[in-house]
Amino acid sequence: MPQLAKRMGRAKPSAIMAVADKAKKLKAEGRDIVSFSIGVPNFLPGEHVYAAAREALAKDSGQYGSNRGSDALLDAFLHHLEGLGLTGYTRLHCATGIGAKHILYNLAEALLDEGDTIAYAVPYWTTYADIAEVLNAKILALPCPASQDYKLTPAQLDAALATKPKVFLFNNPNNPTGMVYTRAEIAALADVVAKHPDTWVITDDIYNTMVFDGLGYHNFVQARPELRERVIFVDSLSKTYGMPGWRVGFMAGPESVAKAMTVLNSTHITNLPEVVVAAAVAALTGPQDVPLGKCAEFQAKRDRVVDTLNAIPGVVCPKPQGAFYVFPDISCAFGKSHKGVKIANDVDFCSVLLEAKGVACVPGSAFGEPRALRISYTCPTEQLPKGLQRIQEFFAELS
Ligand code: PMP
Repeated sequence: MPQLAKRMGRAKPSAIMAVADKAKKLKAEGRDIVSFSIGVPNFLPGEHVYAAAREALAKDSGQYGSNRGSDALLDAFLHHLEGLGLTGYTRLHCATGIGAKHILYNLAEALLDEGDTIAYAVPYWTTYADIAEVLNAKILALPCPASQDYKLTPAQLDAALATKPKVFLFNNPNNPTGMVYTRAEIAALADVVAKHPDTWVITDDIYNTMVFDGLGYHNFVQARPELRERVIFVDSLSKTYGMPGWRVGFMAGPESVAKAMTVLNSTHITNLPEVVVAAAVAALTGPQDVPLGKCAEFQAKRDRVVDTLNAIPGVVCPKPQGAFYVFPDISCAFGKSHKGVKIANDVDFCSVLLEAKGVACVPGSAFGEPRALRISYTCPTEQLPKGLQRIQEFFAELS
């Protein structure tokens, strides 16, 4: 019997999807489930996006498209970059892909040989570890606990980069913590990056327009323009434009990297679908009222979730300034029981919470932080108080 390739022994499906699947199953059985699990924005883009897609469908060229991305899409992305304060990029610095996940996978393939090291802060988005493992890269995990607001410090980064990892992967605003680095924090980290010329830096900043409290989005390249030689910016329409299923991702960075990504597209996918491209251009260049409105709504939801969680004795919930996640430390519950069922760790906690109260959250260990759990709060507004109340009750019932 022939065997699968060895790398498949290291590949695993997303831990987040596993929780979402269990919640779906319980729902199908008739249970009233509040889902705080999967990181979907739960809103749809504006009508102009659908109109552009319909128009493209009516004018289908019947051809393959560009490996890098169509000129219209690259120009729309460049326009978006300028809005973020990232100027001076051209089409040759950019490439597109099937979502940021595909872009990140291809970047890892383009930059890492087997055995090379990739460094990133913990908690991290689960897929970072999954990609590193499939590609047989070594992981240098940099622990950032709740006590430091889940943020990487310049001293930590300095020590990590001194070991010359091939890639440093940075995520801001962060999934799963929702944390956003301030202008001063980015500047301090950028100074450290500048001291270590042997490392590529990938900034996965797909939540960049979803920043609260007037904090603004900041990037290493704005802080230190010379870093554009080594910094690769990753973006996506999935979260900020309510378009996760359309699968549109981007990168901007050195020309050599954008060219490598274009070659990989030629090997893997050829091009993004024409209808999707038209919708993506409309999203980036058309009215921004839907994403802006959602950002304000998420900020209000964030307040409600954080206030509720911090009012529960023993729970520590650093206040996020972006994305749509909160990441409370719930380790005060470990060693306790819920109606006779023992809770030893985060996985038990989430499983008992789902069974007992019908609230689905993702265990923090999926993100490398087993003292916490992730709440994604994009559910319909009326579901939010219900889910939060059930979590409060659950804690009150622990003994
Ligand atoms: N990066 C981060 C930090 C994410 O949270 C996600 C989606 N959960 C992605 C990348 C991938 O996004 P997509 O592939 O939908 O563009």
